Amino acid sequence: MRVGIGYDSHPFAAGRKLILGGVEIPNAKGLAGHSDADAVAHAVTDAILGAAGLGDIGRMFPDDDPQWKGANSIELLNKAFLKVVEAGFQFVHADVTVILEKPRLAPHLDAMKDRLAEALLTGPAHVSVKAKTNEGMGWIGRGEGIAVMAVATLAGPSAARPSGGHSVT
Ligand code: MG
Repeated sequence: MRVGIGYDSHPFAAGRKLILGGVEIPNAKGLAGHSDADAVAHAVTDAILGAAGLGDIGRMFPDDDPQWKGANSIELLNKAFLKVVEAGFQFVHADVTVILEKPRLAPHLDAMKDRLAEALLTGPAHVSVKAKTNEGMGWIGRGEGIAVMAVATLAGPSAARPSGGHSVT
């Protein structure tokens, strides 16, 4: 079993759609970014890549590459996941915490789980998405942006499992 961690943050910006976990959420501001700035999809992507030892989202989809401008980040998550599968891993579970002052995400959490699960070729029971405020503190509390933390667990690959014993190096 492998566990990977992912973190992402994006500033709010006028004139942008707010897309989190592949779901468009009605809000006066969206998030600034080269892609659609879906910080939830980005954090989950980094978590699965981390668990598989495959680097990170910025290395796989560089933000100075015009082909990813305005990219649908749920599609990027799916592309990254296919690399994880190619490397011999199976998806087990992901857990996500979104930290933002507003808007309230509770009405959208199930839809976000569904979209993330689709990208990960799994069912929504294998994905958890939670939201909390930062109790008004700091840059998140002032509504300047959002932060997302994610962990993902993967199983395999069996060929890479250590055969036992201790290494002295
Ligand atoms: Mg990002």
